[in-house]
Amino acid sequence: MNIVFLGLPGTGKGTQAEELAGELRIPHIATGDIFRQAISQGTDLGKKAKKFLDSGELVPDEVTCGMVKERLMQEDAASGFILDGFPRTLPQAEALDRIMDELNRELEKIVFFSAPEEVLVMRLAGRRVCSECGTTYHIEHNPPSQEGICDKCGGKLIQREDDREETVVRRLQVNRDKTQQLVNYYEKQGKLTTIDADRSLEEVKIQLKEAVASP
Ligand code: AMP
Repeated sequence: MNIVFLGLPGTGKGTQAEELAGELRIPHIATGDIFRQAISQGTDLGKKAKKFLDSGELVPDEVTCGMVKERLMQEDAASGFILDGFPRTLPQAEALDRIMDELNRELEKIVFFSAPEEVLVMRLAGRRVCSECGTTYHIEHNPPSQEGICDKCGGKLIQREDDREETVVRRLQVNRDKTQQLVNYYEKQGKLTTIDADRSLEEVKIQLKEAVASP
């Protein structure tokens, strides 16, 4: 199944995507993760992306769209994928439609994670990620069993630079209108399902299962 997760930062789409992708045995493709990995490895892509991630701005479409196309052409994505964090702009959505056409495939589900911005600011401030495997936690809503340590791999939990308050505000500002444009775009295509992301992880998971199972 070819799935896109839309939503502002902090809606929990990454956490849900990771789990659903595991269940469906398809890759979870998160553009933010690809950029962060490229930056930590010091690749050309990482060098191009770093200043945008540091400031909470969007990496230019010509860099992002090419990267996504390459990723979707890899073998493990042949039987489906969950795209998380892409598209983030209308030109990216149009580019994705073209990529799908070229690959002779179709997007089947677009899931929009909706939540009030006050909730997102709180969630992002409490978010911690494993510095080794990238698993995401929240200090109150989804804490690890041992403070500061990843349950999965024992790695150290850190706060992402761009989850600090000044950058969070900018990230929400940058993404707000663009996300709404994408919602309108996919609504017109009749593919959009909106879920209430201002709920517990379990409740969101139930809504997501229904969204994915519906015809
Ligand atoms: P995320 O982990 O999804 O919050 O993304 C972190 C950062 O990566 C964003 O603030 C952007 O700088 C960059 N990024 C991720 N996805 C995209 C995208 N589709 N287009 C442009 N920039 C992106």
